[in-house]
Amino acid sequence: MTGTAAGTRRTYRTTCKIGACEPFCGLKVDVDDGRLVAVRPDTNHPITQGYACIKGMQVPAYQNDPDRLLHPERRSARGWERIDWRTAIAQIGARLSIVWPRSASICPRRTASST
Ligand code: SF4
Repeated sequence: MTGTAAGTRRTYRTTCKIGACEPFCGLKVDVDDGRLVAVRPDTNHPITQGYACIKGMQVPAYQNDPDRLLHPERRSARGWERIDWRTAIAQIGARLSIVWPRSASICPRRTASST
């Protein structure tokens, strides 16, 4: 990501982070006081050359959505509760260490190198 400044508003060249497709279209994004405020296709991107689909153009809506999850959450008897990253990773690792050995017999795609 590279950026140019104009007051507190900065323009950065980056790629689409939607992640659902291969092109990683080139985008120019405007960030004002730490908030993503605008996006447009990067006409100087060597591959996509100014193309970006409607999903890429909606990145500010995703980024700024008030319902966007910013922290891990765990479901409990009381409902969803926020937990810290270290706890989340430890709990996921503990559960995977139980499930992973059992999955070999039912997952034909597992290879010897993935065990
Ligand atoms: S802009 Fe659209 S086509 Fe390009 S990488 Fe993003 S989601 Fe995929």
